[in-house]
Formats: sequence, structure tokens, C-alpha cells
Amino acid sequence: MAVPFRRVSKMKKGMRRSHQALSVPGMIVCPNCGELTLAHRVCSNCGYYKGKAVVVKATEENAE
Ligand SMILES: [Zn+2]
Repeated sequence: MAVPFRRVSKMKKGMRRSHQALSVPGMIVCPNCGELTLAHRVCSNCGYYKGKAVVVKATEENAE
């Protein structure tokens, strides 16, 4: 329910907002290319996962 903002003390406002912090998703440095990437996912930069090329990017060398 809407409450006039002067009716809510700075302490009560701070107590409510103490739960609003955002968390950082689990990020790791890719062991293949060194790019910062999400953990337990294929690297979006090089396409490697667990030391294997899972996704091969289309480049000028392998495009046929
Ligand atoms: Zn990578």
C-alpha cells in the first residue's frame, strides 16, 4: 500500500532496501582464451568447454 514518503523513516527505508542488493553471477576466467565467462557454460568467446571445442565459430579458415 502507498505510504507518504515522510511517514517512512530513513531507518525503515534502509531496513527495507537492505534486501535489494544484486548478486554477481558465477563468473570464471576461461582456461582456453582467458575471457571472463559464465561458469558451467560453453565459453562465448572461443566455444570451448572442458578443454574441447564444442562450438566451432565460422571464420574465414573453416567456412566452406
Ligand atoms: Zn574461451
